[in-house]
Amino acid sequence: MSRRTQPDRVHQVAPAVERLGDGMVNFYLVDHPDGLVLVDAGLPGHLGQLREHLARSGRSLHEIKAVLLTHGHPDHTGLVTAAQQAGADIWIHEADAAILADGPRSAMRHAKPERSMFPYLLRRPASISGPLHLARMGGFSGRPVHGAHTFQGDHHFDEIPGRPQAVALPGHTDGTVAYHFPALGVLFTGDALVTREDMIGHTGPSLVSRGFTHDGAAALSSLDRLAELPPALLLPGHGPAFADGPQAAATQARHMGLH
Ligand SMILES: [Zn+2]
Ligand SMILES: [Zn+2]
Repeated sequence: MSRRTQPDRVHQVAPAVERLGDGMVNFYLVDHPDGLVLVDAGLPGHLGQLREHLARSGRSLHEIKAVLLTHGHPDHTGLVTAAQQAGADIWIHEADAAILADGPRSAMRHAKPERSMFPYLLRRPASISGPLHLARMGGFSGRPVHGAHTFQGDHHFDEIPGRPQAVALPGHTDGTVAYHFPALGVLFTGDALVTREDMIGHTGPSLVSRGFTHDGAAALSSLDRLAELPPALLLPGHGPAFADGPQAAATQARHMGLH
């Protein structure tokens, strides 16, 4: 396994937020006094990393109160079953709930990308590492998930530690959202805005390529909504944190445009 895909790297990215995953996929643990919250759930192959990380600080999967999913793609939902079995509530926008209920392979059907990924692979053969990583870490082997809670549009989660707010940013999938934790000053953008795009080899704020995006025009429009959000540290589904806030991130992503 190459260094960039080692699943044993955990970084504290904000006072109460740890980033898990690897060099290609991020998910986050919010350590709030009222309980733990996972934002996104990585790949099935990240279970050992999460268990070991929690055990090192005397915690366990049972202390995760909720899993907030930014969307239904399999690189963001891999540990949902393990967290649910340990007692966590799973939350997803209702427009992506069918992907969860029908299993990872249904993502191509429920949120069909608007372009084939093959031209990207031909143009940049190294981009095959993304899909290969997904497969190697069990991204297509997950089971359907039943009993997830759904919400529509923007939603305030007053019962969840940190009292996060979902912000609907459709485009990457119909049910793509960001989660804002106002008191922590962090905004989890999922794949509505990333800071690393492996299909085109770009680092910095951008949309996800159209080879993995359902509706690029809608994703571009959603950047207008993102730009209006209050200043916060942006924590994306792929790539490093972005400290200059939503407005600057949206401007840079608009400049990159659809790709
Ligand atoms: Zn995605
Ligand atoms: Zn993703």
